[in-house]
Parts: sequence; C-alpha cells; structure tokens
Amino acid sequence: MESALTARDRVGVQDFVLLENYTSEAAFIENLRKRFKENLIYTYISSVLVSVNPYKDLEIYTKNHMERYRGVNFYEVSPHIYATSDNSYRSMRTERRDQCILISGESGAGKTEASKKILQYYAVTCPASDQVQTVKDRLLQSNPVLEAFGNAKTLRNDNSSRFGKYMDIQFDFKGAPVGGHIINYLLEKSRVVHQNHGERNFHIFYQLIEGGEEDLLRRLGLERNPQHYQYLVKGNCPKVSSINDRSDWKQVRKALTVIGFSEDEVEELMNIISSVLHLGNMQYGGDDGGSACITSDTQIKYLSRLLGVSGTVLTEALTHRKIIAKGEELMSPLNIEQASAARDALSKAVYGRTFTWLVNKINGSLAYTDESNKNSSVIGLLDIYGFEVFQYNSFEQFCINYCNEKLQQLFIELTLKSEQEEYEAEGITWEPVQYFNNKIICDLVEEKFKGIISILDEECLRPGDASDITFLEKLEDTVGSHPHFVTHKLADTKTRKLMGREEFRLLHYAGDVNYNVNGFLDKNNDLLYRNLKEVMCMSENKILTQCFDREELTDKKRPDTVRCVVLSHVSPLPNPTIVVPCAKAEFTKLHVTKILDYSELLHFNCSQVKLCVCVCVFVCALVFRYKSLCPDTWPNWQGKLPEGVSTLVKHLGYKPEEYKMGRSKIFIRFPKTLFATEDALET
Ligand code: ATP
Ligand code: MG
Repeated sequence: MESALTARDRVGVQDFVLLENYTSEAAFIENLRKRFKENLIYTYISSVLVSVNPYKDLEIYTKNHMERYRGVNFYEVSPHIYATSDNSYRSMRTERRDQCILISGESGAGKTEASKKILQYYAVTCPASDQVQTVKDRLLQSNPVLEAFGNAKTLRNDNSSRFGKYMDIQFDFKGAPVGGHIINYLLEKSRVVHQNHGERNFHIFYQLIEGGEEDLLRRLGLERNPQHYQYLVKGNCPKVSSINDRSDWKQVRKALTVIGFSEDEVEELMNIISSVLHLGNMQYGGDDGGSACITSDTQIKYLSRLLGVSGTVLTEALTHRKIIAKGEELMSPLNIEQASAARDALSKAVYGRTFTWLVNKINGSLAYTDESNKNSSVIGLLDIYGFEVFQYNSFEQFCINYCNEKLQQLFIELTLKSEQEEYEAEGITWEPVQYFNNKIICDLVEEKFKGIISILDEECLRPGDASDITFLEKLEDTVGSHPHFVTHKLADTKTRKLMGREEFRLLHYAGDVNYNVNGFLDKNNDLLYRNLKEVMCMSENKILTQCFDREELTDKKRPDTVRCVVLSHVSPLPNPTIVVPCAKAEFTKLHVTKILDYSELLHFNCSQVKLCVCVCVFVCALVFRYKSLCPDTWPNWQGKLPEGVSTLVKHLGYKPEEYKMGRSKIFIRFPKTLFATEDALET
C-alpha cells in the first residue's frame, strides 16, 4: 500500500494551508502542477476553492459524485465544486443566512462552467415536488438561452460570456429551490456590429442561420449562409470546430419553450434577431450633395415587416437627424458615415434592449410567488466576464476589467473579513494581515469628479471640440500623477516603447493593460438619435414596444452607459471560488506563474495562511478522525468535545505552542503536526 507520504509526493496536498513551505511560490505552483497531472483540478486555500481548467471532460460530475458530497463536511472528502455548493447550501439551511458564491478568474478560466455545475448540483440534490421540478428545469434551461444571446467566440474562449450575471436561487423552508432571479450587467453591445479578427458575433445569429427551419428562414428573409451578412463577416470565422450551431439551435428552441415563451414570442424574438442582420446589410449611397440615401429597398421591406414599422418613416429616420431649432423641428440629412453610425447605433440598441427584455422574461418565469412562504433564503452566484488583455484593448476591455477590479476588491475584503470574524467568534487572537488593496485602482476609475469615468462623461457632455484625444489629454492633466496610470507622454523610455500615442495604461491588480482611446467618447455616449427612437416606439413588434418606451422620449436625461453596479447586489457572506485558467490542457510553469501574479492568488494564499495561524479543524472532526489513536477516545469519546480534544492532543504529544483551541475549532500552527497525526493513522 502506498504510504501517506508517497501519496502526498505524487498528488500534492488538497489544501494549500497544508503545504509545509506555504509561503513559497514555487511550492505553491508545484502542488498545483502535481495535482493537475493526476487530473485533480480542485484544491483549497482554506475555504476558498481553486480550480484549474482541464479542457477535457473528466468523469467527476456524475450523480454518484453529487451523492458523495451531499451533506458531508468538506474536510472529509476531496476538494470539489460540489463540496463548495453543498457547504453553502448547508450554511444557508442551518445558519439561515443568505449565501453567495463568487467566481473569479480571467477569460476562459471556467467560471461559467463552474456556475453551471453548481446549479446542476442543486437541481439534482435538493428536495423536489412537481412544482419545484418546473422551477429546476427553468433555472437550468435559462443557461442555454442566455448563453445564446450573451456569449460569443473570442480569441480566448469559444464560449465567452459578454455580459455579467448575478443569479439568486431562492429556497423554501424545506430547502427546495422555488424560484430565481437574474440580474444582467453591461452586455458588450458593440459586438453586434463589429468583431475582431478570429472572433464571432453572439451565438444566436449563427444558430438561427444554421439551425432555423426552412420556412422560418424564408419568413425572415434569411439565407443559410453567415458569410452573406455584414455583421457576421468582420471576424472572418463563421464556423468554430468546438461549436455545433445547428444542435445548439435545437437546444435553445427547446429551452425557450420550457421557460415559458409562447410561439408568438419566439417568432417576434427571431424577427428582431433577423432585422439586426438586415440592418447590417443595408447599402448606403450618396446623392450629389453628399447626403446618404438607401440604394436598395430590399432590406427596408424586410425591416418594415419584421420590426412592424412604416418603411418610409424608417428610411427617413435612417438617413436624417431631427433637430429642434427655435422651437421648430427640422430634418437634417446625414452623410454616409453618419447614416452608417446611426444604423449601427440602432442595431446595438435593439439587440441590447432585447437582451434585457429576455432576462426580464426569464425572471418572470422564475419568480417565486407564494406569499405564504416569505421565509425563503437565497444562494447567489456571481459569474462575470473574466479579465481580458488583447493586443488592442478598447472601451469594452476597459469596462470588463473595471468590473473585475471591483470583484477583486469585494472578494479580498469579504474573505479576509470573514476569516477575521471567525477568529473573533472562536475567541482566537490574531495579527491583522497586510494585503494589497486594489481600492486605489477602483478609485482611479470611478471616483466622483476626478476618476476616469467622470472625466469621460464630462468630455461626452462638453460641446465643441471634445474628442477622444482631448479626453486623453484631460486624463493626463487630472490623473497623470496617479501611480497606476501611464500614457505615452508620461511614461519612462522603456514603457514608452510599448505604448501608442493614443493609449493610456492602467496598472490593474491582474496586470498592465494599454487602452486605445479611439472610440471611447462615442461608445460611452452610445447615442441613438431621437427619430430612430421614435420609430421604435411605434413598432408593432410586442417585444420592441416593451423595449422602447415612449416616456423616454420626454426624459431629458442623457444615457448613462458605463455604470458598473455589479457588486452592489452581492449578499454579505461569500463563499468564493477562484478558478485558475490554464492554456488548453497544458500546464507550463511559466504560464501558471503569470496567472498567479495575475490573480493575486499567491498573495492571497499567503495572507490566508498567516491569518489561519495555519490549519483549522472542527474539534468534532478531529476527535472523530483520530479517536483510534488514543485509548481514552476510542471507540467513542463520551464527554464534552473540547475535553476530548485536549485529551487527544495531549496523548498525541502536541506542544502548547503548536495549536490554539477555539470554541468549536482547533487551529494547528504547523502542517507537519497534522501530517504526523495523519501518518499515524496509516500505520
Ligand atoms: P469568460 O470570462 O470568457 O466568460 P469563463 O471563465 O466563463 O470565461 P468558461 O466558458 O466557463 O470560461 O470555460 C471555457 C471552456 O473551458 C469551456 O467551454 C470548456 O470547454 C472548458 N472548461 C471549463 N471548465 C471545465 C471543466 N470543469 N471541465 C472541463 N472543461 C472545462
Ligand atoms: Mg463565462
């Protein structure tokens, strides 16, 4: 039989706090590597779960696995996402406190997959009745729908989330899932009209074209060829080997029915999706005076029918801008460039608002309506788009990375806070831990009046010569001396070589990113001309009438697009999961080191360990596991638990400086102490 020591050599330790050399980065990485080689993708850092993306199907998500983790304390079984799920569930049930599972990691790390595994775990293991089964089905089926409309292939991930999602699962007093609620954040709408090389538009477009039934496509005026659509050709990659658009279409279609969409609603939804494709194919020409005109009326005909608006009114709105001068309304013609921009703005607005409508509709079907059962508890799941760095980073990456910065802030604060609370509750004294607080970067972005977003908003409102470049200059004037901000002009010689003149660099917690300011003002403004809004308000498409409200036409407030409210809805008790990514099934030291720097994981590890005064074990678990090692505790300890622990550790020869007793847990300073005890069990 393999000894405990050799097994540890081979597969590493399942909790980083058990590493003897726990402050060493090399030991940390080596442990991850060993485990990964053995297909052990999960490891704990105390109560935090770290997962490395295997990029292959491991047989670890079966019903049997779920049963193995159900109702079992997580120190008794190997680390798993199911253990984290079960632990949150039991805490919610026993402590009657709402829970939240935060999932963080860079793009492609496996956050969305992890959130789906958690949901599946609850769907399978929680009590069910017929009514509950319907809720479970709807919760599960909301994923393929939201992914179809909100995910896309990027250079980093074939199924990358392009929106942030916070989902509450509501449980009744029996612990059965009875409802849910989803909040969506900041969909990357610009993808509707433009994709970088090697990337795609949102999945739904390709699914409809590849999988839609013949007569449906005929009604929508679509051809079965994505290359035919301007909005789908920019990235030059209509097909992806890992994606089957046709079967995904079938799944989405079924999911829409399970969630409760009527046939009419699906039809109207597809009318909108196809109208976006027709908008993209609209051809503009110029008349003698340089004003834009629509050269072919094919698209207008389809658009008029699909959007339920007058073709003439739509044509005018797509080529003119309404100006109110001296109380009079004038229609000012647009040139070709302006008209194309107005069309793209319409496509983005239509798609973005339809996405929000979709989320609301799903929420309607998940709503928990039983007034007699107000005592429900919730488990929240936060899955946002991961930190992103490309060769060229624009406004979209700025928003995504800012969201991640906020998440990191919350993650560190809450986790360390909850650790400290635990010591307090256990009556243990501890030394406060110094850790890098990224609040300084969040402030740089979001501070009122002098943060980057404020300056951007100000430039957007400033009449006259405001441009992306004046925005950059304002940034230099206002935040130029900030330690986490650099521009080409302000950089030292070495950094300057790595930066363009139109870029600013932010030193994020996860790494340095250069952002090109080109397009920042337009994208922040996200301006949809009033007359296009008016046309949409007149639409006969029932979804669009809900998306474009007439009241907004009288509302003087300008649109406010960059607002990351992602973290304000998170419940106070986190149960975080860090998901460490790894290039497709490769695990090179270099790669992992980069990632670790990136995610602050190592730093986090160290601070956790210091705080934990090392390993903490529930006293009941300790007595139960090691009772055979002491004649006084074998076969069962009959007295009070703390006395049982004292008897046991005295017999085992623990020295007073090696451990601290809390009220319900024992904190053991050196892992080797526990190893020796563990080895004694084996002999
Ligand atoms: P983004 O921030 O871009 O949305 P993400 O962190 O949500 O990225 P996922 O979409 O969850 O990343 O994962 C990317 C891919 O990695 C998945 O499509 C899947 O192929 C693979 N993957 C992730 N987790 C696992 C897992 N536990 N087992 C097997 N494959 C996985
Ligand atoms: Mg994702």
